[in-house]
Amino acid sequence: MAKEIPYKIYLSENEIPRQWYNVRADMKKKPAPLIDPRTMKPITLEAMSEVFCEELARQELDDTTPYIDIPEPLIDFYKMYRPAPLVRAYCLEKQLDTPAHIYYKFEGNNTSGSHKLNSAIAQAYYAKQQGLAGVTTETGAGQWGTALSMACSYFGLDCKVFMVKVSYEQKPFRREVMRTYGANVTPSPSTTTAVGRKILEEHPGTTGSLGCAISEAVEAAGASGGSYRYVLGSVLNQVLLHQTIIGIETKTALDKYGIKPDIIIGCAGGGSNLGGLISPFMGEKLRGEADYRIIAVEPASCPSLTRGRYIYDYCDTGRICPMAKMYTLGSGFIPSSSHSGGLRYHGMSTVLSELYDQGLMEARSVEQTAVFAAAQQFARIEGILPAPESAHAIKAAIDEAMICKQTGEQKTIVFGLTGTGYFDMVAYQKFNDGLMGDYIPTDAELDAAFTNFPPQP
Ligand SMILES: *Cc1c(COP(=O)(O)O)cnc(C)c1O
Repeated sequence: MAKEIPYKIYLSENEIPRQWYNVRADMKKKPAPLIDPRTMKPITLEAMSEVFCEELARQELDDTTPYIDIPEPLIDFYKMYRPAPLVRAYCLEKQLDTPAHIYYKFEGNNTSGSHKLNSAIAQAYYAKQQGLAGVTTETGAGQWGTALSMACSYFGLDCKVFMVKVSYEQKPFRREVMRTYGANVTPSPSTTTAVGRKILEEHPGTTGSLGCAISEAVEAAGASGGSYRYVLGSVLNQVLLHQTIIGIETKTALDKYGIKPDIIIGCAGGGSNLGGLISPFMGEKLRGEADYRIIAVEPASCPSLTRGRYIYDYCDTGRICPMAKMYTLGSGFIPSSSHSGGLRYHGMSTVLSELYDQGLMEARSVEQTAVFAAAQQFARIEGILPAPESAHAIKAAIDEAMICKQTGEQKTIVFGLTGTGYFDMVAYQKFNDGLMGDYIPTDAELDAAFTNFPPQP
């Protein structure tokens, strides 16, 4: 007889993965290489290492090594908040009256409130190993900045955060959490960098964007004379690699009970949580061992996969980072100030972009008010107050479960619940007061942003 499945499948500490899985190793057609805008050739390790920590630059460029050891000090840190539970959403299933089985991997059980800590601690570790004084970064909604300040304080590193201005103003408590962990937080665009001053001149009164804050953080690291490096919380291959701890734990938990998912769902901003969740499953799919439906969910206000172009683009507004071939809305695209700050990036992970282009995963976009309705429904029945970003995945999971109700199919749905929404109460307030809108860019607006792509290599 099948084992009864508990509400929460917890792994023990010694089941924390010892290696990350690099899905690129199993891709026959690899993601296109990052291009150095100065040479228009694939970027070298040396050039990458000017901006990023050397070991992270190596991970970024490595598309052949399938498994990469997780250093022991990281495993010790992971033990503070991992393994994360895989939860069976029995209560939601019952409320929906669906034959579907719904599971979610909950990554909100740490002070930063999201999965971002999984990569923050790895990046801080490699920076420390290299003997750096500190790191610079950008943060949108604030989760990444919070995670990075926690990681930096643990390893005794300096942390300079450029925080997108709209979030800096809307989320003063996030800022204070970062400062509590010792970070220095500057609203972006700022007058402390040349690129910030230029953007302020061209767009006076702008509330900022991730692309712009990235440019400022990269410039600040470059100006440090080599004692700081820039680190990034999403989009990059290295981040996706670190986040595979989510997917490996999920798979281990499912395997214990002999559960095989039919559909795997995640929200997609830069693609790191989704990439991390799906990697081991995608690996099986690529090797022809199993098949899964994989769905990326993005906001209708920033639809990189569903309405973007697959093309080489700048990764930041200031055009100082390497260029990446990805689904993108253009580096000049500044999405409406929606309440899912973590999903406002103009591009998408090159790995996910390539997998999507090969038809190995699907993508859909959802509107903000529908996302918050799903968030509220979920909070009331499953207890967890989700981050608005995570609620994109909840919305798609509920939609899929309702299709199962119509067809009578008992599908197994797994989605990533990336974080909690305690710092998003301004957004929830707007929703509760009926004041939330659904801004969807017009084709004309997207076409305008598409005119700014760089020359293609
Ligand atoms: C940053 C963030 C996201 C989106 O980033 P990805 O790199 O696409 O995973 C999603 N959910 C939460 C809670 C976040 O903080």
